[in-house]
Amino acid sequence: MKHDVDIAIVGGGVVGSALACALADSGLTLTLIDAQTPVPYDPKAEVDLRVFALSMASRRIFEALGAWDEVKKARVSPYREMQVWDAGGQGSVHFDSADLGQAELGYIVENSLLQHALWVRLKGKPKVKLVHPAKAEALTLEDEGAALLLDGGRRLNARLVVAADGAGSATRALAGIEVEHSLYGQRAVVAHVRTEQPHRETAWQRFLPTGPVAFLPLADGRVSVVWSADEAEAARILALDDAGFCAALTQASEAKLGQVRSTTRRLAFPLQRLHAREYVRPRFALAGDAAHALHPLAGQGVNLGLLDAAALAEVIMEAQRKGRDVGDLGVLRRYERWRKGENLAMIFALDAFKRLFSNDNAGVSRLRNAGLRAVDRFTPLKHAFVRRAMGLSGDLPVLAR
Ligand SMILES: Cc1cc2nc3c(=O)[nH]c(=O)nc-3n(C[C@H](O)[C@H](O)[C@H](O)COP(=O)(O)OP(=O)(O)OC[C@H]3O[C@@H](n4cnc5c(N)ncnc54)[C@H](O)[C@@H]3O)c2cc1C
Repeated sequence: MKHDVDIAIVGGGVVGSALACALADSGLTLTLIDAQTPVPYDPKAEVDLRVFALSMASRRIFEALGAWDEVKKARVSPYREMQVWDAGGQGSVHFDSADLGQAELGYIVENSLLQHALWVRLKGKPKVKLVHPAKAEALTLEDEGAALLLDGGRRLNARLVVAADGAGSATRALAGIEVEHSLYGQRAVVAHVRTEQPHRETAWQRFLPTGPVAFLPLADGRVSVVWSADEAEAARILALDDAGFCAALTQASEAKLGQVRSTTRRLAFPLQRLHAREYVRPRFALAGDAAHALHPLAGQGVNLGLLDAAALAEVIMEAQRKGRDVGDLGVLRRYERWRKGENLAMIFALDAFKRLFSNDNAGVSRLRNAGLRAVDRFTPLKHAFVRRAMGLSGDLPVLAR
């Protein structure tokens, strides 16, 4: 098979674009394909409703890719503290970046800004071709290469195809990779709101029996809300008018920031747990939400996806240095072994958390609150938790160190 390109990446969201950036100067030729043409980022436009809590590891990856300055000069809010508490008792945990000797715990950033910053970097790269809008419609994996058919009839032969096309990945399905999948029976309602009191660069999260409600600080002083709730409760929240929604949020957050005064429109995302049985096949790999999707209660999805991208880039570049074929299953298995265990550990931990906090049995609630108080007091355990969430521990790729 004659190769048109070394690596074709399907999906130019944050994860696929970060992978392309990490490989852009490796000498390999790349094609990044996205179903949509990215809308140019406008710092004067309303803040994107999809915002992420970005870890320190993700910031380091962005710095290493030369994309952090573009993020920083636009709209990014650091958060220095985190308050987590339970609706069913007195238990709470307080995390403070100063206790860890860090300036901040993480950053709240818009999805569209992250994608824009990466695409700005990619535009000047001679070995990178950006193809959009285009969808992958068929895929054939053969010993010598992978053949990708795009809508419109365009064909592309690559040594390796990477699917980074999100949780509903069509490319994963074309490769015949199965997933373990279950719905949480919850939806996350998101909106940006103005509160009576300032957010003090703190992320707040209260666990209600119907799901957690999080307040994340935005650079313009408002707060981004992620309110995960069981279906019936989510339907109720979505049916409220703006004044009713603000009142319900004030109550759900125990008025931690005073009255919620105004809100943007609301969006809702069904929450799911998804994990691919395999991350790789000969000449094929999955990264980001195409490989795993998890509950947003700890804001880890895109952070894990960025670690996938950094790890995959590292494995590919090492293979290339050693003169190995980058689509070889032996090469790709290293990536799978590296990331699968780390991602699964996070999925299981968040599942257990979600189950623990949605249980309103009095005994469980007492234990949970005692547990929260114990974690808050036992500094080494608390620091271990937060270091993991910040991406400061674990088996980190070079780009994240
Ligand atoms: C309510 C909510 C809050 C969240 N909060 C956080 C948080 O605070 N922190 C965090 O780390 N994570 C968070 N997440 C998770 C985060 O949204 C995802 O993990 C992240 O967006 C995944 O990025 P990705 O690039 O893998 O996929 P996506 O962002 O889904 O990007 C996929 C890309 O592929 C393209 N595409 C799709 N199909 C095709 C095709 N057939 N051909 C070509 N291109 C295609 C799409 O256009 C898109 O650009 C949250 C999720 C939800 C639902």
